[in-house]
Amino acid sequence: MTSKDYMDKEARYGAHNYHPLPVVLEKGEGVYVWDVEGKKYFDFLSAYSAVNQGHCHPKIIGAMTEQAQKLTLTSRAFYNNVLGEFEEYVTKYFGYDKVLPMNTGAEADETALKLARKWAYEVKKVPENEAKIIVCENNFHGRTITIISMSTDPDAYKGFGPYTPGFVTIPYNNIDALKKELEDPNVAAFLVEPIQGEAGVYVPDNGYLKKAYDLCKEKNVLFIADEVQTGIARTGKLLAVDHENVRPDILILGKALSGGAMPVSAVLADDDIMLVIKPGEHGSTFGGNPLAGKVAIAALEVIKEEKLAENAEKLGKIFREELRKIDSEMVELVRGKGLLNAMIIKPKNGKEAWDVCLKLRDNGLLAKPTHGHIIRFAPPLVINEEQIREAAKIIKETIMSFE
Ligand code: PLP
Repeated sequence: MTSKDYMDKEARYGAHNYHPLPVVLEKGEGVYVWDVEGKKYFDFLSAYSAVNQGHCHPKIIGAMTEQAQKLTLTSRAFYNNVLGEFEEYVTKYFGYDKVLPMNTGAEADETALKLARKWAYEVKKVPENEAKIIVCENNFHGRTITIISMSTDPDAYKGFGPYTPGFVTIPYNNIDALKKELEDPNVAAFLVEPIQGEAGVYVPDNGYLKKAYDLCKEKNVLFIADEVQTGIARTGKLLAVDHENVRPDILILGKALSGGAMPVSAVLADDDIMLVIKPGEHGSTFGGNPLAGKVAIAALEVIKEEKLAENAEKLGKIFREELRKIDSEMVELVRGKGLLNAMIIKPKNGKEAWDVCLKLRDNGLLAKPTHGHIIRFAPPLVINEEQIREAAKIIKETIMSFE
């Protein structure tokens, strides 16, 4: 079968809820992926930052295959001999009392919202069903009905109502707006992405997260960080909130928690918050399965052993520096932190970000536009300096070919 055959099959039998770049991949190793015709590419999306440790990392796949031959799933109806080990490892790793394991990022976000509401009623004593959660414009937290109820993107919410009530939306990176909404005594939590990934790698002002956190503390409001995309070394620190020394009351992780091997997500919090949820009030058949536990431990070990946060910090600077040297009207702006970066494309002669991505593909680098005019560049964090310079050169030559 050719690439076209595979794409036709998907179009014929699969729902049309995605519009992929036309490239059909069959193999991945480290920072590279190969298509079915054998062409090799730099992966500069990393499955939306799930593959921070690089494709098919041998340590992660090793842990996975070993555990897969012993026990994969018990459900939480019974104990298994890995879950406790994972829970101890992950809570000590991130510095929280407790963890609640789930599978996808959206589920972890939902878990955090439930925790915040329950905490509001039981601890803060907000009147029943009156709890509010403050969220930001242009947020992205996933695709469930409740999560799209918080969205300001019509593609995400339009046609899927009625929506879940209880959310207040404020502009991102706006402390005054937050301050105003925090006056409401029924506010349970402020949910924020430390950098808005899907919105186009929108980096807030220095100090925004710390100020927001301090204001939340003043008003006895939980500060919830959605680090599903920004966490686990992507931005040059273990967590993006670490850049401002903020410790969220609730921390949401997903994606790279498994290095892309399988869906693993988690919510971390201290006892006063986590223990408001009692047996039978929340869960998931696959959440906390032993396969996920072993995979996640290996994935987190790789981050530390290979110093991936430090690498992201160092190479991110070189990468942005190189991209900012590109002398083309098409490059409106380059922004980012660590190895979560974006280039804003100004269309030229009818050519836009999508055309740039098609040309990048032809030149051996895969990236995808977001919101039409922004290209995110987020390679696996195992990339080295020579590779990042080669990738920057491909991007430069591609952009210049439109001149
Ligand atoms: N939260 C953030 C910040 C994300 O970027 C994403 C996915 O891109 C999600 C949540 C949802 O994760 P999932 O697709 O695993 O449900």
